[in-house]
Amino acid sequence: MDEDSLKHNHDLFTFLRAATSPFHAVAFMRQRLMAAGFAELREEDAWPDLPAGRYLVTRRGAALAAFSVDGDPAATGLCFLACHCDSPALKLKPRPEIIVSSPKVALRQLGVEVYGGALLATWFDRELSLAGRLHFADAHGLHETLIDFREPFLVIPSLAIHFDRDAGAGRAINPQKHLPVIFGQGELPWEECLLARLRQEHPQARDILAADLFVYDPQPPSFLGASGEFIAAARLDNLLSCHAAMMAVANEKSRNFFLLCLSHEEVGSLSASGAQGGFAEDVLGRIIPDREKRRRCLARSFLLSIDNAHASHPNYPEANDSGHPVAINGGVVIKINAKERYATDSHGAAICQFLAREAGIATQFFVMRSDLPCGSTVGPALAAKLGVTAADVGAPTLAMHSAREMTGSSDPVALMRLSRRFLRGLPPCDSSCAGMEAR
Ligand code: ZN
Repeated sequence: MDEDSLKHNHDLFTFLRAATSPFHAVAFMRQRLMAAGFAELREEDAWPDLPAGRYLVTRRGAALAAFSVDGDPAATGLCFLACHCDSPALKLKPRPEIIVSSPKVALRQLGVEVYGGALLATWFDRELSLAGRLHFADAHGLHETLIDFREPFLVIPSLAIHFDRDAGAGRAINPQKHLPVIFGQGELPWEECLLARLRQEHPQARDILAADLFVYDPQPPSFLGASGEFIAAARLDNLLSCHAAMMAVANEKSRNFFLLCLSHEEVGSLSASGAQGGFAEDVLGRIIPDREKRRRCLARSFLLSIDNAHASHPNYPEANDSGHPVAINGGVVIKINAKERYATDSHGAAICQFLAREAGIATQFFVMRSDLPCGSTVGPALAAKLGVTAADVGAPTLAMHSAREMTGSSDPVALMRLSRRFLRGLPPCDSSCAGMEAR
């Protein structure tokens, strides 16, 4: 691992430790970008003619857009980076405490819903914690705050093998029945535990009205492998990509017009903070209010959508398409799907390869087996909404959607370097399909 990778990875680890829920991820990135000189705007305010500079705006603390204003975007086009900033997890129900019918068991439990396509078996037998957003009332009104317990205090124990000798052949997991988390054995009901924790930071809090709380694994990220060539961590999908894109826009000082949009995707993108929620469109509409100018800008623009990609698993070689092996530490993955579950077309793939070569980065292709359905990401939703040429790329990952995922220690910095090179502008391209004659 070179010095740049080591530095980048340590910063990624700091981000992963802090970004324990999507709201914490947005809060961290907002602070980091403001420290890098981005001025904050608010959706509810009027945006006057913005002077040249770098800006950011958040939507309900759940999505973030950062952009530059400089020159005429209709003439230059836009370097558009997009990632989802949520991760699969277990989400607490609104009134989570489960009333156990047999008081002799005396274990207090909380019911959860599955957020996104979590690999459920990986959540068992881990020391777990809780983080998210919480709304409380005090004598002055209603308040919203972030909360993170940090310390592990939750657990979902497996059923012992002695009660299910066939468990090794695959145990079915019923989320309603098997995923409630144990939080203690004491007398105190959950709502009072939560209120007591909240009052450590907000002593005036009277009662809690609602919350979005996610169970998470607080084990810190680590290097693995004989030479530290791997990274293991929770929420690599997709905080690894968010971090790479954030570092690129924070450090790249070229004067190209760019937009970074971080939104939700893991439960489908159709929400106010989701990729189909119109956030990117709304921000663009306010930066370039003239519809015709905006269309001209988008016609010259390119979207790099970044999300983790499936590396080939040595124990399951048949899982990946044999002609398209994807190696950990093997370079940025360009994702292709004929059903357009990924946004990359040949134009997008060519641009990615060109930019990667210029940045000295290897690339590899992922295509799903033809007999399996393909996952998706924010790229197709944004490309369709904005009518912009796009490519889906990502870092090679094993155990995607596990509570603990794995990537290569040189993969995050490769993604950041590709993003930085992209922000310096697209290569000149002397043809477009519209102007080409069929032969
Ligand atoms: Zn993802």
